[in-house]
Amino acid sequence: MRVAKAGVVGAGTMGAAIAELLAFNGIPVVLTDVDRAAVDRGLGRVRSLIDEVVVFHATRADREVARLAELDVVLTPEQTARLRTRLAPKVTAERGREVVARVHGTTDWTEFRDVDFAVEAVFERDEVKRPVLEQLDRALPDHAVIGSNTSSLSITRLARGLAHVRQTLVTHFFNPPGTLPLVEVAGGVDTRDDVVQETIDFLQGLRNHRYPLVPIRVKESPGFVVNRILLPVLNEACFALEEGLASSRDIDLAMKSGAGLPMGPFELADLIGLDVTLEVAETLVRGTGDPKYRPAATLRRLVDAGHLGRKTGRGFYEYPTG
Ligand code: NAD
Repeated sequence: MRVAKAGVVGAGTMGAAIAELLAFNGIPVVLTDVDRAAVDRGLGRVRSLIDEVVVFHATRADREVARLAELDVVLTPEQTARLRTRLAPKVTAERGREVVARVHGTTDWTEFRDVDFAVEAVFERDEVKRPVLEQLDRALPDHAVIGSNTSSLSITRLARGLAHVRQTLVTHFFNPPGTLPLVEVAGGVDTRDDVVQETIDFLQGLRNHRYPLVPIRVKESPGFVVNRILLPVLNEACFALEEGLASSRDIDLAMKSGAGLPMGPFELADLIGLDVTLEVAETLVRGTGDPKYRPAATLRRLVDAGHLGRKTGRGFYEYPTG
């Protein structure tokens, strides 16, 4: 699949980051949302995502020199110079400006008429996604492929009856796409197999700010692979807490030091957002009919209280705001 121009609908957390990722790979992108203000907020997100990378690269050598100094490692001026050359920014301010310039915000659907690959990342609801897919169906050229970033909805149902039904599939990116390389790719009943494979090949050729993307083919099913396995871990940690097995801090510590996880389940749930975690649990219960996914009461109570994790400053832990 040759993607000379991409399109993204929904300029929120995921849409803006996916647009930035595509532009980071040299692909011009049109980005749209419900109105101009929402588009502009999305463009602001794109700018701050790439700015963060530029700053990371610009300060990398200084950080390494400071780290070594803290370890009492004394470098000769030549060694320092070599280190600075090796850690010279790969993503410069100029490259950052190019990335931003490649993302064109618009509210005009005619700008999708020459898009080869479009991703929708609007709210996770059938009644929001379906009209957006219909709009894309009308606006895109015949050959275009449509990827939906849905975490849980049926792509078979969402794509039913579209002219592009055979070229519509799930491309489920992980948050944040700039650092997490996985993309779960799932076709619906009517998706052409070669479209699934070509989409995987296309994604495989891209990289995020840290790694080459890792697209995997998954079956259309609630939660796909990652959420299907991850949710029970997070949920079980809540049950363990409710039973008083250990404190949340100790459960996190146990899973990091004993199971080799990079983050504890409560730290991770707070990062994902407890509302999102609860929604995934409910989707798994609904989608599989299996009560083993029933959300723990603690999770529901924290969501009811509006304590959604890092984004609200409080979840299982408290986070300083500002
Ligand atoms: P978000 O709320 O941050 O952004 C959604 C955007 O869609 C908003 O800017 C909204 O204005 C826009 N939108 C809504 N209706 C629209 C319409 N009719 N036309 C154009 N734009 C419209 O949501 P998000 O977290 O970015 O999630 C988007 C999708 O990605 C969802 O399907 C979600 O399940 C999925 N997802 C989210 C995450 C995550 O961690 N946030 C991870 C993987 C997948």
